[in-house]
Amino acid sequence: MRYLWILVVTASLFGLSATPSRAQTQDAETEAFVRGFVRFLAYHEAGHLLMGQIADLNSDPDWSNVDREDYADRFAMILLAPDAEDPDGIDEIISAAAGWLQVDSSVLRNEPHAPAEQRAIEIICLLYGSNPQQFGEFAEALPAGRDCAAEYQIIDNDVEEVFRDHSGELGQEIGIVFAAPTGGMENARLFLQDSGIVEDLKLDIEADFYLTHRTTIQAMSCAGKAKPDTFYSDRVRGATPDEDHFVITLCYEMIDERLRYGMRGFEDETQ
Ligand SMILES: [Zn+2]
Repeated sequence: MRYLWILVVTASLFGLSATPSRAQTQDAETEAFVRGFVRFLAYHEAGHLLMGQIADLNSDPDWSNVDREDYADRFAMILLAPDAEDPDGIDEIISAAAGWLQVDSSVLRNEPHAPAEQRAIEIICLLYGSNPQQFGEFAEALPAGRDCAAEYQIIDNDVEEVFRDHSGELGQEIGIVFAAPTGGMENARLFLQDSGIVEDLKLDIEADFYLTHRTTIQAMSCAGKAKPDTFYSDRVRGATPDEDHFVITLCYEMIDERLRYGMRGFEDETQ
């Protein structure tokens, strides 16, 4: 796991694991780690949502599912790209990449998406590409021959020119629903609410994109209803296209699983 090692080492450069007392800080470390991973998943779903609502790419026959998943990850990276002076933002993005490297099948069921390690590398590539000077340490973790700066520029231009709204007008507001948890998911709900991820996502989208349709971000217990451990966006078809309702669903079970799993796999490297 060369990549893992490099990620953990580079993470330590930014203070992710600079911990004076492991016992006291372990919970906080785990929470920061899970927060970064969950935030990336939520913003990935926002990529799907905006691809569907603004550019109608979700039904474009020229795009494969793999294309769309890759694009949603890139979209998330543009929305979350941290400044070099934003250590928390950097930690969160590294956590998202590291989260994909916890490839134990008991926590990862992401079959429609690219292989987990690939997703981690793409995140690091775009992070590096967003500012090769500031993030030079990450070059070592990247495959030779990739022009990550050019790749970053392409998706950044897309988001700027195709997706972002420059009229200054506000579109539809996003609704937020934290459904009552069932099946012991209270902690996951509290974690998600405390994290501010859902509100951040709502505000980020409303500020920069013009939503034409009813849109909701809902957090819920999914067991017995839908893929209980994944995050996904869905498009609830109305009687007419005007009545379509765009929904991002965040399942408490996924968060609960990640909180339980914690930083397993990174203990030795982060000592
Ligand atoms: Zn996806």
